[in-house]
Amino acid sequence: MQEHCKCGQRYDLDFRLVDYKKHVSIDNVPVLICPKCEHEEVLPWIKGDLGSLLRSLPLDEEPYGLDYTEFNELALIMYTIFTCSEADTKDALKAEIQASCISRINALLDLYRCAGDAGDRSWMAEIELRLAQFTEKVAVDDGREARFSPA
Ligand SMILES: [Zn+2]
Repeated sequence: MQEHCKCGQRYDLDFRLVDYKKHVSIDNVPVLICPKCEHEEVLPWIKGDLGSLLRSLPLDEEPYGLDYTEFNELALIMYTIFTCSEADTKDALKAEIQASCISRINALLDLYRCAGDAGDRSWMAEIELRLAQFTEKVAVDDGREARFSPA
């Protein structure tokens, strides 16, 4: 994970309301914010997932809002820990997020094995999509084993 801004300052994690084409408001998008130069960017891990969500949104209805944590596992974990944790340093927060990601990934892998044993391909595909949201944290080998690589 890219933790430092170009100016050398360590990023803060925060969550933002993102407006898409003045039509959809997406709440709770994780962002990195530099407390020194105020540079701000969407968390690199979720850029791909957020992009495909935006492309899939219908734009022909009344303007509406949605909560990104309902669409992305990693965002949900980060938001839950960010709002509920008693961690008081960035390192403690990061460690808590990593531990929570590992247990969620392991739970998904257990499910994936169940789906595989049951020969349920659509269930497997759904779980693969969820695992892919952790894509830069996990490499799935031969569809059954996963390695977790902490940033
Ligand atoms: Zn900066």
